[in-house]
Amino acid sequence: WAKSSGPNQYRFYASEMNARGHELLKLEGDLRLALKREEFLLYYQPQLDLRSGRIIGIEGLIRWQHPLRGFVSPVNFIPLLENSGMIIPVGEWVLRQACKAHRIIREAGFDNFRVSINVSAVQFNDEYLYEKINRTLQDEQMPQQALELEITENILIKDPMSAAETLRAIHALGVRIAIDDFGTGYSSLAYLKRLPLNVLKIDQTFVRDLINDQSDAAIAEASISLAHKLGLEVIAEGVETVQQLEFLRTHDCDLVQGYYISKPLPWHELMKFLQTKLLQ
Ligand code: C2E
Ligand code: CA
Ligand code: CA
Ligand code: CA
Repeated sequence: WAKSSGPNQYRFYASEMNARGHELLKLEGDLRLALKREEFLLYYQPQLDLRSGRIIGIEGLIRWQHPLRGFVSPVNFIPLLENSGMIIPVGEWVLRQACKAHRIIREAGFDNFRVSINVSAVQFNDEYLYEKINRTLQDEQMPQQALELEITENILIKDPMSAAETLRAIHALGVRIAIDDFGTGYSSLAYLKRLPLNVLKIDQTFVRDLINDQSDAAIAEASISLAHKLGLEVIAEGVETVQQLEFLRTHDCDLVQGYYISKPLPWHELMKFLQTKLLQ
């Protein structure tokens, strides 16, 4: 194939592209049915408080169990949900699921526990986002300050004024706001001033080589210090080793999340994990 002539090669690529396009269309069709068929699951990754040594919260991470393909990564299907607008009903499902989970955890004896969910930029195009959050909190009797929304600076790309306004209204409810994937976008740091934030999440790309790469270590240290000076709490994500955890503890990071503590867990495994922590 590699040695084939120009036109052949072109045809090869073109047909491969058609196949890929067809594949995506099929996946998108399946996604349309996934909510009704209850193929989505919410997994939960525990967050560890470095000072108290306690698990003080969880992040909800969506999973799609396709009937034939098995688990499809959110990296592959979230963009399809965003492009089709389906992220809006799916996002509502995620929110409700997270509130229901929080209620059971609360009733199991965890005080001041929190649950965070990822909210994509497209959800900020939904003029009813604020009302939906407010209504869901009431329906599920969820303490407002127990909910945390993880957003990225991408929410500011399309309509920054209206996105910031929506965020301020949600924040005024008492809901906490985290900036996710900090330092990986292309915008200036000005948004840190404009948005009502509570938490800064250091992206895993800076945590991965923390121990061997001086630049990553410098970025992590500076992010922690910047966050604290702005009055924000800091979570480092993607913590996989005790060395990374100790570095972060030494540099005054507040919370850590990552495989070293736990992978994202399905609901029943999360409850088992939390029960063992309650007994400690
Ligand atoms: P994210 O919000 O940055 O989530 C962190 C990702 O890192 C998750 O991947 C998590 O499983 C993974 N992770 C956690 N600890 C470790 C670790 O120690 N090492 C490594 N290598 N990875 C770790 P996941 O679950 O595949 O999710 C990928 C992305 O999909 C998320 O990135 C988020 O942007 C998006 N996503 C997931 N669930 C939702 C959702 O309910 N709504 C929206 N809008 N986006 C979601
Ligand atoms: Ca996140
Ligand atoms: Ca992240
Ligand atoms: Ca990410």
